[in-house]
Amino acid sequence: MLNTNISHNYFVNLNEQRVVALVKRYLSANPQYCSCAGCVTDVIVMTLNQIPPHYIVKDSAAEYAYQKISDSEIIRHIVNNIEIVKKEPKNCLRK
Ligand SMILES: [Zn+2]
Repeated sequence: MLNTNISHNYFVNLNEQRVVALVKRYLSANPQYCSCAGCVTDVIVMTLNQIPPHYIVKDSAAEYAYQKISDSEIIRHIVNNIEIVKKEPKNCLRK
């Protein structure tokens, strides 16, 4: 019988966690860029739409061992998107 309790509590996009962590790390090392919630969210969403998802069953530790895309490849997208958001801030809370 179908378990109707299946929900997002059971799976996660690993790359979502990686992008959030890498954006936070990059912006704290580069304080010249706006790090308001609006700009950070823009950069995260743009980056997530450019890289493949990597869904795993939550708590399946073995899945963490490999990555479909490298950190440096993700950072390349992040740097590009931060420049775009800087030039045309759409959701900035400080403007
Ligand atoms: Zn901003």
